[in-house]
Amino acid sequence: MGTRQKTGTAAPHRVVILGAGYAGTAAAIQLAARVKQREDVQVTLVNAQERFTERLRLHMTATGQQLAELSIPELLEGTGARFLRGWVTAVDADAKTVRIDDDRVLPYDTLVYGLGSVADTATVPGAEDHAYTLNSTQDAGMLAARLARLGSGTVVVAGSGLTGVESAAEIAERHPELDVVLLGRQEPGAALHRKARAYLRAALDRLGVRVRSGVEVAKVLPDAVALVGGESIAADVVLWTSGTRVSPLAAAAGLTVDGRGRIVTDAALRSVSHPEVYAVGDAAAIRQGYGVMHGTCQGGMPTGVHAALSILRALKGKQPTPFRFGYYHTPVSLGRHDAVVQFTRPDDSPRRIRLTGHWAVRYKEAVTASPWPTYGRMKKMPASGAFWPRGGRFTRVRNAR
Ligand SMILES: Cc1cc2nc3c(=O)[nH]c(=O)nc-3n(C[C@H](O)[C@H](O)[C@H](O)COP(=O)(O)OP(=O)(O)OC[C@H]3O[C@@H](n4cnc5c(N)ncnc54)[C@H](O)[C@@H]3O)c2cc1C
Repeated sequence: MGTRQKTGTAAPHRVVILGAGYAGTAAAIQLAARVKQREDVQVTLVNAQERFTERLRLHMTATGQQLAELSIPELLEGTGARFLRGWVTAVDADAKTVRIDDDRVLPYDTLVYGLGSVADTATVPGAEDHAYTLNSTQDAGMLAARLARLGSGTVVVAGSGLTGVESAAEIAERHPELDVVLLGRQEPGAALHRKARAYLRAALDRLGVRVRSGVEVAKVLPDAVALVGGESIAADVVLWTSGTRVSPLAAAAGLTVDGRGRIVTDAALRSVSHPEVYAVGDAAAIRQGYGVMHGTCQGGMPTGVHAALSILRALKGKQPTPFRFGYYHTPVSLGRHDAVVQFTRPDDSPRRIRLTGHWAVRYKEAVTASPWPTYGRMKKMPASGAFWPRGGRFTRVRNAR
């Protein structure tokens, strides 16, 4: 499938992977490990930083905890894959090029788009200007510095989803001198079984987190959060964890995207409008039997592996197989000494079974620490990455393309 050059030798097939998050790194290492003896395929991984961002731990970074230095170029060493550090500023889906840092142009034959998502600060006035986020190590580091300087005062965590819960718990545990308020439309842990939810709530109470559910933020001000209905809550710091949004690059490139800007894929994870583009992780709208997948690391890594395997099949002239994934758990940290793990059905609905306390802490840590060693194993033994729950009857899509 290599492009024929004038000299008669086949130019390598250029696979460019955008974003070295959980999904993009899985795609890169899976593909690189499988083509390392081949000269007809060239793999390039592009990412803003050389250091792998453990996004699952950014609430720890936000409270001053040091994370391991995980080097993406070192991970790729020996595979023949190239790492390119830079900020992707445009994709030209017709010319099949990617623009990096505005001045470099990188051509591709196949593109894997895995630029992830960030907190959606665009929906509420003032959030962009006055709220902190956990979008990157730098953002989390800025929050850590601010919290360390604060001494006393109120931290409002806006968004009662699991990122908000984990962040509020971590801040309250690390900074008992601060008043932590967790607010949002839903009760914290709303998607969990009632017993897991009650456990989570008791842990937040024990840590002194004040929970305000059933409220909506109308505006973020420099020193307060204004709620719909007129109430205002004084805040020295606001952390925004409510909702996510994706990079506008895919939509700007003319790729078919859903209402949230995510690339709509076919069953094999190819863009429905541009089949030479694969979309993985949070940036993709991937339909399963139970609906469109929501962004998680547990589902993101398999999408990366599957995209790599689909590309290999396409290079051999074979049809790619449909991607299937079923959720199996929701592990939630509640500070460093407590956690709750909700086991789920493949459609992410909660089962009755759960873990709490010490065993949940150990389980959560094992899960959070697992991606990097998993990449290391895949590098030596690519087949080891191909195991994940397919979801059985929950993930059978009728009329899959
Ligand atoms: C605090 C927190 C806790 C979480 N906990 C869990 C959890 O327990 N379990 C779970 O399953 N999920 C959890 N999530 C969600 C999970 O982190 C995401 O679903 C996951 O990171 C998505 O992986 P991804 O590869 O799609 O994107 P990311 O991991 O976000 O990676 C995207 C990569 O692309 C890079 N990038 C983005 N734009 C550009 C650009 N223009 N140019 C160059 N590089 C770019 C980024 O720097 C990053 O390296 C958590 C999220 C947060 C914030």
